Amino acid sequence: MHVDGIPLLAFASNDYLGLANHPDLIAAAHAALDHYGVGAGASALISGHSVPVAELELALARWLGFERCLHFSTGYMANLGILPALIGRDAAVFSDALNHACLIDGIRLASPQSLTIYPHGDVEHLQRALSNCPAGEKWIVTDAVFSMDGDMAPLPALVALADQHDAMLIVDDAHGFGVLGEEGRGSLAHHAIHSGRVLYMATLGKAAGVFGAFVGGSYDLIEWLMQRSRTYIFTTGTPPVLAAACLASLQHIRQDQFRRNRLSQLARQLQDGARDLPWALLPSRTAIHPLMLGDNTTVMRIAKGLQDRGLWVPAIRPPTVPPGSARLRISLSALHLPQDVTYLLDALKELA
Ligand SMILES: *Cc1c(COP(=O)(O)O)cnc(C)c1O
Repeated sequence: MHVDGIPLLAFASNDYLGLANHPDLIAAAHAALDHYGVGAGASALISGHSVPVAELELALARWLGFERCLHFSTGYMANLGILPALIGRDAAVFSDALNHACLIDGIRLASPQSLTIYPHGDVEHLQRALSNCPAGEKWIVTDAVFSMDGDMAPLPALVALADQHDAMLIVDDAHGFGVLGEEGRGSLAHHAIHSGRVLYMATLGKAAGVFGAFVGGSYDLIEWLMQRSRTYIFTTGTPPVLAAACLASLQHIRQDQFRRNRLSQLARQLQDGARDLPWALLPSRTAIHPLMLGDNTTVMRIAKGLQDRGLWVPAIRPPTVPPGSARLRISLSALHLPQDVTYLLDALKELA
């Protein structure tokens, strides 16, 4: 990337598969631009729903095994729309302490009668809270892969708890879709989860390399969301050009296993190489690898030192992460080469 004209080797993007600049996606976008123009012109339910968006919804549903999918303009809009549309005022909601901001905001908008924020990934705590909960309607809400930690939610255990306590589980797979599971189908495929209790949402702006998001589910669930999600109903429809680029991206997500192989190889190299550093690299099998530096001053000093060496790794500080857990969020892409990771590790060793 170029920042103020200076070329930097970036470990800073969510373009995990390196598809954002792929010529096939660009060609698909060009063709759609020529055919449909730039804007959707209206909200989806008025006249802004287009053939490429409909095709994308169908392609996602067929591929992932949902009855239907509903496309949203972004992941943020999806979560702000679906949580209030589904969660009743009398419901009890159980939310992982490290959930993404848009899940938190979606829960706030839903304003359920009871909200339990359980310690990150703490299944036993959640089990107790569910057992003590008298509400008839219960929702567990979680990131599948946590955006600032790179670890995976214990989804199989969460599904078991949902079964046991007659709860529903909302899974946000922003960082797992495209990266995990066979053909990049995401976190549910990774854990071989098939459950009617799970509501799946993923974004198309990260591994898919484009923009947008979708929710997958039963026919009735999607129908309900179309009629009730205010961020679907009262916003301009997605430009067809974006859906066309996403359709081209799906082909590559499915076919290009070599991109996921490269990511795993780079992840292993980074995890192994970081053992010699004085800081802890959180264990991760995803594209996100946080190097825990602790205080804000250190993280800013190391980030600056890396930048002086031509490297861009974002410094993440509170309130994005809990106090005292400032970190460098190293994100890998299939476009990185092994020598890029070596260069990063060497620079970190110099600065340590
Ligand atoms: C990035 C992210 C989102 C938001 O998706 P956008 O499409 O960028 O709005 C939602 N959830 C999680 C966990 C994310 O990391």
